[in-house]
Amino acid sequence: MKRLLLFAFSLHSLWVAAQMSASLPISSSGRYVLVVHGGAGTISKNLMTPEREKKYHEALDNALRVGAAILERGGSSLDAVEASVRVLEDNPLFNAGKGAVFTAEGINELDAAIMEGATLRAGSIAGVRTIRNPISAARAVMERSEHVLLTGQGAETFAKEQGLTMVDPSYFYTSERWESLQRAKKRDSLAATGTPNHSASLLLEQQKSRYGTVGAVALDQQGHLAAATSTGGMTNKKWGRVGDAPIIGSGTYANDNTVAISCTGWGEYFLRLVMAKSISDRMEFGQQPLQQAADEMVLRQLPALGGDGGLIAVDKQGNITMPFCTEGMYRGYIKKETATGLVQTKTFIFK
Ligand code: ASP
Repeated sequence: MKRLLLFAFSLHSLWVAAQMSASLPISSSGRYVLVVHGGAGTISKNLMTPEREKKYHEALDNALRVGAAILERGGSSLDAVEASVRVLEDNPLFNAGKGAVFTAEGINELDAAIMEGATLRAGSIAGVRTIRNPISAARAVMERSEHVLLTGQGAETFAKEQGLTMVDPSYFYTSERWESLQRAKKRDSLAATGTPNHSASLLLEQQKSRYGTVGAVALDQQGHLAAATSTGGMTNKKWGRVGDAPIIGSGTYANDNTVAISCTGWGEYFLRLVMAKSISDRMEFGQQPLQQAADEMVLRQLPALGGDGGLIAVDKQGNITMPFCTEGMYRGYIKKETATGLVQTKTFIFK
């Protein structure tokens, strides 16, 4: 009888243990990584002051802390990248959300994309004028529509229906970006009347000083990757121009088998190189490590075509790379190691 009772008890214990493990969260490593950027194209050492530099470091740090708080409590990389990008969108220092650059018509047209590495689900929006946080609209497209990319007025109607915060277009105005547009227009007209060589170099210079974007990539404690990018595009852009940021595989990409990437730079070149997916493919099919794949694309192929910019990336092992071929790129990371539990945060502007 005693033996029978013991047997029944053991069976019950086994059953309880099985139930408990079934209800535990998916294995959590205790480790996470979050990387953010605030653009690569508008930085010049000559124009930087210590006060300004401090502001950028603080802004990056703030975005990192908001996203890391989510990762620290076991939240998803998707939530973390969205939260970090929203912080940067709300900060007028960056060319995304408030503080976005102006089109040739003197308005702000915003692009954004988000992607989840575990499922390859993605959402993006382009050319919107009244959505306060475009990255959240991109996420809504991913989660609450059957589409991947919505543009213009249709995207705005969708965002409104989803209850996102809508603003008057004047919300995005900053005097600094307005003045940049005036300078860009002046250079355009000078170039149009200049000698051919002079105009070509002027045009190149002005293109290079026209961009800036924000983005975030993350690896969460469950080992899932996500990427998010948001931008106002390029100053003085015309004809409904859309850059690489909202194009999945060019400016934004995440795949749990390889890497999460968010790009910034002269979008036309990132589009032509299918930048982010090319790096992922080099890793997946060419067995290249992240750093080698990213350096090949950003430091060799991009400048070889005549473009410039940079990107942030984190791979499935938690390796980070942040290459760029411009004078600087606002960037930073926060990571928690499994073994030590140590949290490390760093932000950078120049090389
Ligand atoms: N890549 C963005 C675009 O071309 C601009 C940027 O990164 O600053 O729209």
